[in-house]
Amino acid sequence: MRLENQVALITGAGSGIGKETALLFAAEGAAVVAVDINLTAAESVAAEITTAGGRALAVKADVSKAADCEAMVAAAESTYGKLTVLFNNAGISHADDDDSVSTTEDVWDLTFAINVKGVFLGCKYGIPALRRAGGGSIINTASFVAIVGAATPQLAYTSSKGAVLSMSKELACIHARENIRVNALCPGPLRTELLMKYLNTDEKKQRRLVHVPMGRFGEAKEIAKAALYLACDDSSFVTGTEFMVDGGITAAYTTPL
Ligand code: NAD
Repeated sequence: MRLENQVALITGAGSGIGKETALLFAAEGAAVVAVDINLTAAESVAAEITTAGGRALAVKADVSKAADCEAMVAAAESTYGKLTVLFNNAGISHADDDDSVSTTEDVWDLTFAINVKGVFLGCKYGIPALRRAGGGSIINTASFVAIVGAATPQLAYTSSKGAVLSMSKELACIHARENIRVNALCPGPLRTELLMKYLNTDEKKQRRLVHVPMGRFGEAKEIAKAALYLACDDSSFVTGTEFMVDGGITAAYTTPL
């Protein structure tokens, strides 16, 4: 088991990448703190883990709220004694996110509050806990759009993921000598609720798939396996990376014809 004696806090654990990662981390021996704004969803994931013989705690938190982030980290330490893996994964892609002319300020602010401030607050309260544990691994979910942008306009989302990527690199450098690794996980387009809600017509789906060399959407389980690698000691010399798991879409955008 690759995460024995580890305590992992995962935000957005009620669905998609977060859910699959929670199940995989628990199967690999970690105690999992499953955090979501949707408590019912987090509880159902935690129940699935405990039924399978694992250890899990569901916590309701809105990652854009400082008090919630402080409380989720406190819950991890008080229940399991420490925190060693922090997966800042919760994020939204708003249906009304568009180009600069059409996107409203409200959509922009909400996207940044969750996708960017949420990661900042996770680190603000999580890093002191990792220090107390003697180190650990932070994984922040960015996206391939942080590198290449998106063909279908989603300006707030793309900009927010760019911020997550640069924040992760800087954090990696700041905390490298404290035995804290920080990596940005950059998934390609996935067949999860988040993207399917946004690419809500066949035309939009096909427009995205045209750019994916593998010709298909990825699965949340495939991202969970990458998160496992970044969480465990297999990646002990890996920090500050933009870890692409994207079916080749970034290469397709950046390779000259
Ligand atoms: P999802 O919608 O399936 O799951 C996201 C979870 O986050 C949900 O359970 C939701 O309730 C929770 N959440 C939303 N706002 C929250 C908040 N304020 N506080 C706490 N929890 C909150 O999405 P997913 O596809 O699993 O996406 C997870 C991450 O991966 C996101 O950061 C997303 O931007 C990123 N990502 C997704 C794709 C994709 O194609 N699906 C691609 C690249 C990156």
